[in-house]
Amino acid sequence: LTSLEGLGFALDPLDRASYEREDASEMARLRARGDARAILIARDMPVLLKDGAALNPLLPMAEIEALGGARVEALLGVTPDGAPVFAALLRDETVEQQSDASDGFLDRRALVVPGRDDLKLIDLRSISAGGLVPPDQASMLGSAKALMHWHARRRFCSNCGAETLVSAAGWRRECPVCKMHHFPRTDPVVIMLAVDGDACLLGRQPRFPKGMYSALAGFVEPGETIEAAVRREILEEAGVECDAVRYFASQPWPFPSSLMIGCFAHARGRAFEVDRVELEDARWFSRHETRALLERRHPDGLVAPIPMAIAHHLIKKWAFEDVDFTQFAQH
Ligand SMILES: [Zn+2]
Repeated sequence: LTSLEGLGFALDPLDRASYEREDASEMARLRARGDARAILIARDMPVLLKDGAALNPLLPMAEIEALGGARVEALLGVTPDGAPVFAALLRDETVEQQSDASDGFLDRRALVVPGRDDLKLIDLRSISAGGLVPPDQASMLGSAKALMHWHARRRFCSNCGAETLVSAAGWRRECPVCKMHHFPRTDPVVIMLAVDGDACLLGRQPRFPKGMYSALAGFVEPGETIEAAVRREILEEAGVECDAVRYFASQPWPFPSSLMIGCFAHARGRAFEVDRVELEDARWFSRHETRALLERRHPDGLVAPIPMAIAHHLIKKWAFEDVDFTQFAQH
């Protein structure tokens, strides 16, 4: 069986306790527990506590008050040991930005909490890619970041413009004027490998690190099936027509709040025409070459994405095990 080892953000260990979110007294009881911990997010970046050489993303609840209070708190869930884990959105003023060298791929803002050398703000992509915290903690950080990104930008009712109130333990906002309920968004994105016999189609966006080729991807639109979105995106970006589509696996991708839906698509042929607005380049790679991309020994220095990304596992599955397109719906 295919191993998804290293896949980022897909190992959330929490019982989300969603059936208890409406119970305010239960929330207060959980929050007051001595083993309760908080994941702190400031300006979209996790705040980690230095613990010797290690970095701990699960801070004591008292840190919320110590850092000036939270704009929003949410119960993420309860660990297998029974400890409640909350997410808290700190006020922007709590942190200071020293520089910003972000490049559209990596968030390279240098943020600090003045007077707190024991705290470190690191962007989530670097935390996960660098293995700075264990995979289960990185998954919790992903949930916290995506949820707080939504709260930070959805204070006002999109229906009437009034300021909304946080409810359901941080998983809903309610409008006090028009009574509309607003829920945190997750945007479905299809990411797919088009294959034909011994070749697969990979492309590169201009913002990708040098030499990296990956599976094509795009947002699912209203009214579309996953299969139709897969076929449309491959046709739009590379001019390749596909028929059968097979689902592989999914991955929460908190940049800012997507769900990556990994699929394989069977191409009808290898003729293609790259959309230069979306892609810098696209190519068919043989299975032999694709293995070299994964193992970082391609003669031209080309590489596949790292295991943190589902694209790596899609490519690996096909390169080493192939894909069976029989028995799948063609709709
Ligand atoms: Zn409203």
